[in-house]
Amino acid sequence: MIVVKSSEEIELMRESALIVSKTLGEVAKAIKPGVTTLQLDKIAEDCIRDQGAIPGFLGLYDFPNTLCMSPNTQVVHGIPNSTPLVEGDIISIDCGALKNGFYGDHAYTFPVGEIAPETEKLLQVTKASLYVGIREFKKGNRVGDVGYAIQKHCENHGYGVVRELVGHGLGSKMHEDPEMPNYGKRGRGKKFIEGMVVAIEPMINLGTHRIKQHRDGWTITTLDNKPSAHFEHDVALVNGKPELLSTFAYIYDALGIESNEEDEFRQKVI
Ligand code: MG
Ligand code: MG
Repeated sequence: MIVVKSSEEIELMRESALIVSKTLGEVAKAIKPGVTTLQLDKIAEDCIRDQGAIPGFLGLYDFPNTLCMSPNTQVVHGIPNSTPLVEGDIISIDCGALKNGFYGDHAYTFPVGEIAPETEKLLQVTKASLYVGIREFKKGNRVGDVGYAIQKHCENHGYGVVRELVGHGLGSKMHEDPEMPNYGKRGRGKKFIEGMVVAIEPMINLGTHRIKQHRDGWTITTLDNKPSAHFEHDVALVNGKPELLSTFAYIYDALGIESNEEDEFRQKVI
């Protein structure tokens, strides 16, 4: 069942999303060769709690940390550890926060120093596919329209679209209906409803779409051990159009990146 949110609830969800956005910005400042994912996890937990929220993933389904930290060939759900990041790594960081009874949940894949050109392109294309998907989250469309658009964009570049893991509705629960696959057929699936909120999150592999689960019960890696990227935004359907609740602006501030990629999805100035 899709839980529709009132405009007041959507503003509370924006607050939760922005807590995650600011947290990812703080984490971005600390990403460099030599830092460990456990150190970044501590920065995130402190930042979330300083904003009066609680980490959304910590303890969720018994996950042990604040951030899902998935370097290089890991797709998602990696557990922070004491292995230092090294130049040329990529690190997918997924973060959740809970405040006022609502979750924020979004993700970004960061380069660590200079990365291989083919990996850089994977990051660019995956992030672009997120916006291609968000553009289809509008009145009259269905779940399959978003998935179709993301899949087509990524497969045109020869990339693998992960099947087993999907985006989702978001609200007072981290995972609500509907599931939002990053693949699909046009015009299929549940119809979008004014006031629904979803997390759209392409998980895209440089090689095969196939994945494997590790024995820790969490970590997912690519079957061919090629890199994987993950970008996620929280989006509400407002006035029939996608309204971005999360932002990468804090990340871009930290990294010195100029971007207007979010402008078309923002009806409200934040
Ligand atoms: Mg997430
Ligand atoms: Mg999510």
